[in-house]
Amino acid sequence: MPAAGPKPHNRPVAETAWQRRIRRAENLAAQHSFAGQILTFYIQTARFQQDLYQRVEGALAGRDRFSPPDPALPELLAGFPAFLKLVRSEAPARVAQVAHEMASSRPDSWTDLLSQCWSNADVPATPAEFIVLAFLQPYAEFIRSRVPLQLEGYAHALCPFCSRKPGLGVLRPMGDGARRNLLCGFCLCEWEFRRIVCPGCDEKDHARLPVYTAEEFAYIRVECCDTCHTYLKSIDLSRNGLADPLVDELASVPLDLWAQERGYAKLHPNLLGM
Ligand SMILES: [Zn+2]
Ligand SMILES: [Zn+2]
Repeated sequence: MPAAGPKPHNRPVAETAWQRRIRRAENLAAQHSFAGQILTFYIQTARFQQDLYQRVEGALAGRDRFSPPDPALPELLAGFPAFLKLVRSEAPARVAQVAHEMASSRPDSWTDLLSQCWSNADVPATPAEFIVLAFLQPYAEFIRSRVPLQLEGYAHALCPFCSRKPGLGVLRPMGDGARRNLLCGFCLCEWEFRRIVCPGCDEKDHARLPVYTAEEFAYIRVECCDTCHTYLKSIDLSRNGLADPLVDELASVPLDLWAQERGYAKLHPNLLGM
């Protein structure tokens, strides 16, 4: 007979942002078979990123200064071979091959590579850059969350922390409607941005900024610009409160194919290079 003792705590443990994203990706993978492969790779990446985030957090515990950032931090570099291994075994062949080549290059070349990719805010163009940015993403998120940022009154289209172009939009419920925020896919900074303005070229003419939706993803807007021919997907949380902007953006890949077939280029590809 079990001894009467103190009852175990049965409170639900709060989910971390990573666990939330992983759970959302699992749900979406079950719903959308076309995104299964992408989401499976994302889930593996996110598990790695979560672990890396915790290691960085542990290594930097007790510090009160996080700037300038050090993308070649030893605790970070130590995780790079394991990430390359994951990419080699799980990513599509072309990316896996690049990870294989990176893994066989000299480890001291990684320091430069990580620093370069960190500082270069241009849209990444090569598989190597995408690999490095996906690896550095948790560190970017960690540092950004520790550095004071003046977001009030910030009206620019580039990320106020890392100066990259936004990867997606988020519509958050406000009053009777929703306000549009932009989200950086690298450091995950989110800032408010006027709704009828192109973040690519500042176009304000409503007629040149068509918005498309598809039945399957009625809560995702494909916001296009007929002046600079770019687009951005915005996740409307006022229409789907279960969505996780980052993950739903990845899962809605048919919308990217649709927009790209019509000649729109994505303002900034996501970390899986789409
Ligand atoms: Zn950023
Ligand atoms: Zn534009």
